[in-house]
Amino acid sequence: MAGRGWGRRALVPVCVGAFLGAALVVEVLAVLLQRRRTESEEPRPFPLLPLGALLFLVGNALENARRFVTASPSTRGVMLAGAGQGWDYCYTCQTHVPPRCGHCFACNVCVLRRDHHCTLLGQCVGYQNYRYFMCLLLHSSLALLFGCVLNVGVVASVLQGGHPAQTILLLVLPWLMLLMGQVDIVAFCYAFVTDACVVGFLFSTGFLLFHSLLAVRGQTTKEWFEGDRQYDMGWRDNLREVLGERWYLVWFLPFLASPLPGDGITFKTKGPRAESPPRSLRL
Ligand SMILES: [Zn+2]
Ligand SMILES: [Zn+2]
Repeated sequence: MAGRGWGRRALVPVCVGAFLGAALVVEVLAVLLQRRRTESEEPRPFPLLPLGALLFLVGNALENARRFVTASPSTRGVMLAGAGQGWDYCYTCQTHVPPRCGHCFACNVCVLRRDHHCTLLGQCVGYQNYRYFMCLLLHSSLALLFGCVLNVGVVASVLQGGHPAQTILLLVLPWLMLLMGQVDIVAFCYAFVTDACVVGFLFSTGFLLFHSLLAVRGQTTKEWFEGDRQYDMGWRDNLREVLGERWYLVWFLPFLASPLPGDGITFKTKGPRAESPPRSLRL
């Protein structure tokens, strides 16, 4: 079920992600080397530690992104035997589907334990790839936070002596300031990368916090909106359900084996299964 190879749909977003990751590494390397030259007349050692940390975060994020798009959570090739309690019928796929399964009209397939369709990576977040989605968010957040912290000092020094309004305008509208000739290309580049880091950090951290809450509560996004907690088996079992048996280690290395305890078709519930209203399977 997992590892179906690269889909054409996923190739472009992953390449764009790789380009942005490489751009962040190059920019940070430039900043670190510049600091090394300007902070002291004495030759300083090459900044191996911060650069190594950034490479680890970016590499981890990219590998998690690759595994996220290749570990398909769909029902294709999965034996769906019979229709038990809580099962539904997908009129598009013309088959019975298990509880928590949902049809994705972007992927044009039913997805096991479907959470949502990730537009940025062109893949659904579901049973097989939830782990990689979470780890991608974590490492992206940390890499972007690293970029933000490093760039704050650089932007401040680039803009030293400038009017406060000019500083604010440069950070909010760097393209406009460049086109008006108010700043040079170096100041523009630093401000642009800083903005991208701040926006990306807020975006990925917000998603990470929300999905951490869902994982701990044993819910999908749809179940959270509906207030459905019938699959909540306690935080430890809930984390094991989505991150695998070694849920406490998967955050460090994407290729660490952590088998999922279930099959994505049957799920334990607290007490008798709550009967849900007929689903349209269009969410
Ligand atoms: Zn379907
Ligand atoms: Zn989808």
